[in-house]
Amino acid sequence: MDESTVNSVMDKTATLSESKDLFDGQVHVRKIGESSKVTDAELKKVKNSLVNIRDKGGSNGKELIAKLMSVEGGTTFVLNDLDENTTFPGSDVILMDINSARTFKNLATNKTKVFSSTRLIAHELGHALLRREDAGFRMISIPPPDGGFGFGQIKREMYSPNVEATDGIMSGINGSIRRDYN
Ligand SMILES: [Zn+2]
Repeated sequence: MDESTVNSVMDKTATLSESKDLFDGQVHVRKIGESSKVTDAELKKVKNSLVNIRDKGGSNGKELIAKLMSVEGGTTFVLNDLDENTTFPGSDVILMDINSARTFKNLATNKTKVFSSTRLIAHELGHALLRREDAGFRMISIPPPDGGFGFGQIKREMYSPNVEATDGIMSGINGSIRRDYN
């Protein structure tokens, strides 16, 4: 998450392409580079990702898209070829490389997988719209040893709230599991 990166891009809006809109103007899609433009394929990729999140992403997906549709003035996706995927909590701008070759270990198959545009978009929207963090703490209870009585132990555990929520969305889309931000 990087507020200064997002702001410095938006300070130079002259270097962004004209906006192409989706969902009645709730989503503006632009691209970095003065002479660049958002291709039809890229626009379609963004649209399909959002439709998948809404229709196949379960309750987390529905929540995310409902929020996206309620942002006053809409949300701007700034596409780039710089492998730059970033935003910040409460932002209405998201930098996004939907053609990124970035990979993660897919725990569903134990194989390396390229991030889908759907996972990238769901992840960044989780930060911007729902203010989910990459790292957080939660309390978990560890049951007593086998056959034991009592409440067991309560332990503080580090986890990745935004990645877990995004895994929930992806379970109905491609079934990939990332679990941890690392
Ligand atoms: Zn993140």
